[in-house]
Order: sequence, then C-alpha cells, then structure tokens
Amino acid sequence: MTGWFDGTASVGTVPPDATMILGHRFVAAPTAQPDPVPAPGFTSRQLRDVMGQFATGVTVVTMPGEDGPSAVTVNSFTSLSLDPALAMVCLRTRSRSATDLRAAARFAVNILGAGQAELCRLFASSDRPSGHQAFARVPHRIGRTGAPLLDGTVGHVECLLESQVPVGDHTIFVGAVLAIEAGSADGPLVFHGGKYFTT
Ligand SMILES: Cc1cc2nc3c(=O)[nH]c(=O)nc-3n(C[C@H](O)[C@H](O)[C@H](O)COP(=O)(O)OP(=O)(O)OC[C@H]3O[C@@H](n4cnc5c(N)ncnc54)[C@H](O)[C@@H]3O)c2cc1C
Repeated sequence: MTGWFDGTASVGTVPPDATMILGHRFVAAPTAQPDPVPAPGFTSRQLRDVMGQFATGVTVVTMPGEDGPSAVTVNSFTSLSLDPALAMVCLRTRSRSATDLRAAARFAVNILGAGQAELCRLFASSDRPSGHQAFARVPHRIGRTGAPLLDGTVGHVECLLESQVPVGDHTIFVGAVLAIEAGSADGPLVFHGGKYFTT
C-alpha cells in the first residue's frame, strides 16, 4: 500500500481511504499536484553561451555512403558504456549527417588532435563539398566499417549503429564499439566558449 503511518492509534472516524493494520491507521498519500512548469527565462543565445562553458574535445564523425563517405564535426561524443562497449553522438535530427548515419548504420568517431582545428571548421561548414570530394585533401584511410579514419588524430572509435533516440531537435545515436585505435597526435583539440585550445 502506498501511504504513510500517521503515528496514531485509530480513534473515532476512520477516513474512507485509510487502512487499519494492527490498530495503526495508514492513510493513502495524497495525489501529488504537479508544479506548474515555469517558462524558460533565457534566450537561445544565452543557452548556447552557458552550455559552451562546458569544455569538450572535438570529433569528426564519418560514415560510408552510396555516393561516397560523409563527415560532420561533433562535440556531443560520449563514451556511454564499458561492458558492453557503447559510444554515442547527438546529431540534429533534420540534418544531412543524421540522414546519412541512419542509412549507413555504422560510423567512426575521429577524435581531433591539437593541430586539427582546420578539419573541425571544414566539417562544420554548411557549404563543404560532399562525398569523396570532401576528403580529397584530407589524409585518411578506410576502416573496418567502411568509414574514413582521419590521419593525425588522438584516436578513433569505429561503431555499428545499435539504437537511435530522437530527443528534442536532436537524435542520440548509440553505437556498439567494433574497433578502437590510439592516434599519433600529442594532445587533443579542446573546444570552449566558441574557441579552440590545446592542452
Ligand atoms: C565544435 C563543434 C561541435 C559541434 N557539435 C555538433 C554536435 O554534436 N551535433 C550536431 O548536430 N552538430 C554539431 N556541430 C555543428 C555541425 O558540425 C554543423 O552544423 C554541420 O554543418 C552540420 O552538417 P550537416 O550536414 O549535418 O547539416 P546540414 O543538414 O547540411 O545543415 C547545415 C547547416 O544548415 C543550418 N540549418 C539547416 N537546417 C536548419 C534548421 N532546421 N535549424 C537550424 N539550422 C539549420 C545549420 O546551421 C546547419 O549547420 C558542431 C560544430 C562545431 C564547430
């Protein structure tokens, strides 16, 4: 029974929602009244500015495709589980890269090195070339998943898409980790407050 013991032995009238056990009166918990949801007191710009204070690494998520591979800059990468080994990235649901990732059902997360801010900008730009053209000047090889693995990173993770969860305007893509490798870069590229740093 959900409720609480009110500490008294029953005397007099017992309310209809009370239960008597060994002379003690238990009363059902009142139905919780939800607090009214407050309207957000911030602008989209303020939200971005505060969220941007969380320093992250930077990755380029790559995936194979029928018209050639594609890639996008992502900092929502997280190591989700060790056993089983799972990793996740979040992509705007209505974006080319989310569509490509769903179609490919596999992807690689290339963790950028300190000297790779240019790659970060390239794969974040909306007018970047697509397919093989996008990688024409980017040294890479093709991994076990068919996704490009960029040279000079601090490491990469190759995943098979395990599940996807649309949340708000983004989708969480969870991948089962198939292969990992440490890279040759000395340290990571760090993104904080809209600027790039090295460690
Ligand atoms: C450091 C860093 C980290 C990033 N991390 C992430 C991340 O974790 N996840 C993520 O999804 N993106 C992230 N981005 C942004 C992403 O790299 C770029 O938006 C990239 O251009 C997306 O490519 P696309 O092919 O998926 O998008 P496209 O579908 O080609 O869209 C390209 C651009 O058009 C604009 N656009 C198109 N439609 C809309 C719309 N409906 N509403 C708003 N804007 C629209 C956006 O500016 C978008 O970037 C990051 C960028 C940087 C610099």
